[in-house]
Parts: sequence; C-alpha cells; structure tokens
Amino acid sequence: MSLPASPANLRVNGDRLWQSLMDLAQIGATLKGGVCRLALTDLDRQARDLFISWAKDAGCSVSVDQIGNIFARRPGRNPDLPPIMTGSHIDTQPTGGKFDGCFGVMAGLEVLRSLNDLGIETEAPIEVVAWTNEEGSRFAPCMMGSGVFIGRLGLEETLAKTDEHGTTVGSALTAIGYAGDRPVPGHAVGAYFEAHIEQGPILEAEQKTVGVVIGALGQKWFDVTLTGVEAHAGPTPMERRNDALLGAAEVIQAVNATALAHLPYACGTVGFVTVAPNSRNVIPGQVKFSVDLRHLHAEILDQMVADVRAAVDAAAAKHGLQSEMVPTADFPPLAFAPHLVDAVRNGATALGAPHMDIVSGAGHDAIFLAEVAPAAMIFVPCENGISHNEIENAAPDDLAAGASVLLSAMVAQAGVASSTAA
Ligand SMILES: [Zn+2]
Repeated sequence: MSLPASPANLRVNGDRLWQSLMDLAQIGATLKGGVCRLALTDLDRQARDLFISWAKDAGCSVSVDQIGNIFARRPGRNPDLPPIMTGSHIDTQPTGGKFDGCFGVMAGLEVLRSLNDLGIETEAPIEVVAWTNEEGSRFAPCMMGSGVFIGRLGLEETLAKTDEHGTTVGSALTAIGYAGDRPVPGHAVGAYFEAHIEQGPILEAEQKTVGVVIGALGQKWFDVTLTGVEAHAGPTPMERRNDALLGAAEVIQAVNATALAHLPYACGTVGFVTVAPNSRNVIPGQVKFSVDLRHLHAEILDQMVADVRAAVDAAAAKHGLQSEMVPTADFPPLAFAPHLVDAVRNGATALGAPHMDIVSGAGHDAIFLAEVAPAAMIFVPCENGISHNEIENAAPDDLAAGASVLLSAMVAQAGVASSTAA
C-alpha cells in the first residue's frame, strides 16, 4: 500500500465522462441534437437500465426505492457510516438537452470509476443517485423523487399523481419495472453534492470553469392590485385623475430599483400585468400585477419587500388609488453547508480551475437534500447560458473539471481508508 493520493489533486477521466454523456444522450435523441426522455417512459427505463449496468460494471450494488430513485453504492471501509452521496436526474424536458441532470449522474458515475482506477478505498461508502422525475414535465410536481426521499412529499399522494392521459406515477413506475422496495423517506446521508450545468450565462461571461455554489436565492412573490377611477381620456384634466396604470408604472420602476440597489444576488421582476378596462381612450381604473423578488439573504429580501411596499403606498397616495399587496409564494433563501462549499472551492483551487462563487436561481434536487443533510453544488458553464433547449451544450474540458472537483470534494468528505495509487 502506497501513500494515499492527496484528495485535492484527483482527476477523473474526461474522455470517458464525455463518452458516457454522449451514449446516454442516444436514448431519446432528437433530430436537433437534444434529448426527449420524459420521466417514467420506456426511454427513461432504457436510460435507467444503462446507468445501472454501468454502475454494476464499476462494482457497485444497486437498490431502488419506492418512488423509483436509483442508488448505486460503492462500499467504504466502514459500512456503518452514512454514505457520501452525489447525483442528479436523467429525465429531460420534451425538448431538453444532453447535460441538464445527466451531467450530475454521469459525473457521479465517473467518480466511482475513477476511485476504482486510483485504487482508493474510502472510509465512508460512496453513493450515486438518479432521482425520479426532477423535471416535472410529464408529472407535477418537479423534484418528485428527492421530495419523497426527504419526506417533504408523501409517497401515496405522489404515486397517485397523473399525467395528461390519466396514467399514475405508481402505474408508470410498475410498467417500467422501477417500483422499488427500499422504503421512503430514505436513509441517512453523510453529505450530498450535485454537479450541474449552470443554466445561466455568468460563468461563461466571467470565463470561469467552475461555479462554487454557495446557496440558492430566497423568493417572495406578491399580487398587487391598484384601483383608481376609470374616466374619459379627453375631458378629464391631468390634475384630476386617479390613473392606476401610472401608479403601477412607478411601482414597477421601484421593483427594478430595489433589485439593482441590492446586487449581487438580487432579482426583481414584474412579469404579469393586467389593465382594466384596457381601452385606449379610458384612464385605467384598475391594474393587477405580479412582483417576484429574490435574494440570497433573508434580511435583505425583507428590505426589498419593504421597499416595494413603500413604493405601493407612495403611488397610492400620489395618485389617489386603493392598494393591495397579497403574498403568493415564500421560499426562504438556502445557504449550502459551509464545509462542503469549502471542499468544492478547495477542489477547484487545487485543480487550478478558474472558479467563482455563484448562487442558484433555479430549483435542484440538492435544495431538497439540504433539508436532511449537509449539501453543496458545483456548476459548470453551458454555452450561452442556454438550457431546457435542444441546443444546450457544454465543453468537455469544463465538464471534466467539474467532475474532478466533485471527486476531490467527495473523497475529502468520505476519507481515504487506503490507496494503491502511484
Ligand atoms: Zn436539472
């Protein structure tokens, strides 16, 4: 037995990772170079079967839980330790790409293969998971498998969800042979990592290879209604109007301004507006619009809400309007586990990969897992920031770097029991 390899300097086989991604993308391949592999279809079954055959070839034992999540386990020296886990999803949108989700599962598989190549025995077991129905395209809600695994979603109610043809999740699972017997909510997890394409433009623009995901944005949504007085656009003098749309315009500016004032990690969007009566020669009597505010820190998010509330009050007072601001969604910000974020950052530094801290604006299985275990994510760039699109693309070297960072971060958490690496 030789000295253990330094966990920080480990590298995966990037060519093998790329080949596996391309092979997986053949299942449900579309003419435009994307993938259509909806959850719990026969194509999903084929992809699951392929993943399992690869995991078994890598020496793993495989189990399936009652919602169809697949766990490939590489034993550690101490079987009593909870596994260090990674994974993502292999279902896609109807016009999805080759990398969203698939990268996280194939990167995990590549970690298993690389540990074998390097002759590393870890202290804790390593598990690679493929979560059921992350996309939520055929069956709602999204992030279904991880939601049931952590106990956020009930098994029976989830199995009863139907697609547009009335097929239930339960019957679809049985039809493809993936109604497993491992109980949910699931087993203890020592740490959870998820590698994923960024699905946004920042890493590419900043010319970084690895995004160290420090957390996920909190979200607060509102429906705002401003009510003034409908009146004729000609005879009503400018100083005697109660124009609801004019008030709304000032609030919309304030939503934008508060986000700009609280960068980085702030977003403010008004994406839905209705104007009544919406007639060209009538002063608008009532406007309803949405407000979507996001920030990484709860106290700043609350400040952004207060800013918008003040703008609503000011617009109402200025234009003589009645106002209402009703909350419609509230997701708290999530900070990933600092020691795992550090492990990702250290892995990127040791690899010499240009990296930066980044936040997730989208939903991922890791956000659910963070409720039951320390969790963190690794982002890699995708071309022009585009995903959920058949043209979704990523560079082989970036994917390899992200998987190498995943390998070193996981080994650092699992601990090296022994190594035969040169
Ligand atoms: Zn995804």
